[in-house]
Amino acid sequence: MRMGIGYDVHRLVEGRKLILGGMELDFPLGLVGHSDADVLTHALCDALLGAAGVGDIGRHFPDTDEKYKDVSSLVLLEEVGRIVRAEGFRINNADVTVILEKPRLSGLIPEMEKKLSEVLGVAPGRINVKATTNEMLGAMGRGEGIAAIAVASLGPEAVSQKERD
Ligand code: MG
Repeated sequence: MRMGIGYDVHRLVEGRKLILGGMELDFPLGLVGHSDADVLTHALCDALLGAAGVGDIGRHFPDTDEKYKDVSSLVLLEEVGRIVRAEGFRINNADVTVILEKPRLSGLIPEMEKKLSEVLGVAPGRINVKATTNEMLGAMGRGEGIAAIAVASLGPEAVSQKERD
């Protein structure tokens, strides 16, 4: 079994859509980034890539590449799923915690989980999403940004092409 961890943070500003877990939320501020800045999905991508031992989201989808400008992070996640499978792994499960003061995510979480598991081609229940506030402490607590942390587990571990060579 392999484990990976992912962490990401993006700033909240006016004039951007707020996209989390592939869903557009009704909120006056949005996250800044080269892609759609979906911090939840980025942390999940990094956890999966880390577990597979193939680097991170910046290595596979550089923010200097115009191809990824404003791209939906679900497109990146789908590609991450392909990369992980190509390395000879299967996704066991992933767990993501989003750290934000506002908006409340609880009602939207089942749909986010459904969307993310569909994109990764895994059974519902293998991708878990949680949200917590930062108790008004620090930058996240002041609502200056949104952070997310994720862990992923891959297995059973097939012998990868690289190891065979
Ligand atoms: Mg990011």
